Amino acid sequence: MGRQAMVAGNWKMNGLPQNNSELLKALAQKDFAQLSCALVVCPPTVFLSQVGNELPAEFKLGAQNVSAQAQGAHTGEVSADMLKSVGCEYGLVGHSERRQMHHESNSDVAEKTLALLQQGITPIVCVGETLSEREADATMTVVLQQLKAVARVLSTEQLAKIIVAYEPVWAIGTGMTATPEQAQQVHASIRGWLREQIGEQSDNITILYGGSVKGSNAAELFAQEDIDGGLIGGASLNADEFFQICQAAG
Ligand code: PEP
Repeated sequence: MGRQAMVAGNWKMNGLPQNNSELLKALAQKDFAQLSCALVVCPPTVFLSQVGNELPAEFKLGAQNVSAQAQGAHTGEVSADMLKSVGCEYGLVGHSERRQMHHESNSDVAEKTLALLQQGITPIVCVGETLSEREADATMTVVLQQLKAVARVLSTEQLAKIIVAYEPVWAIGTGMTATPEQAQQVHASIRGWLREQIGEQSDNITILYGGSVKGSNAAELFAQEDIDGGLIGGASLNADEFFQICQAAG
């Protein structure tokens, strides 16, 4: 299989210039060069340039959000070409915190995904169910609704370029992790659905798991057939823990 393993750190709304430098220096002490997985950090927008300048060579830069609009009267928003101009190669879209706290709909997420692709930035499309949706046996219905909205606005060629992050909402920042079996089941279903859309190219799509991944549970999650690495929140702010997670991705 040709797909790329990856670990992406989502710093969320954490950090100030000095903390960022300290964290990046601590990361630079680690031997990331021995790893073959792709490595991404997504700092707050205001620090993209700083982090881009100080990032160890093995890492790529990612954004946490993007506007669906290209330019104009959208106060406070940042467009995909602006992200590209500061060196972003990846961008998160549809993180559950944005869906829940900023009321982003499935079609908003789809438009943002398209905006990134049009600038040559790889979207990391976050999908996942809430606890009540899981308990109602609606996990795959919800996840596929989220993905179908994205697929509707993309060509087959564009769809083949996305990364998917399965992040059960109940596991994000809660310390509750999906079991490897629970996560694998959803990942396999996502890949099965992608195969129906784009055929064998789906084998090359990286599908990340996110939700309270730590150094201690990363290896068993990433050992699953369809889990190609992780999207890491809290644990990406600690260089030792983050390195341990990246080592688990290989
Ligand atoms: C995230 O923010 O995408 C995430 C998975 O957070 P955490 O690892 O803290 O659960």
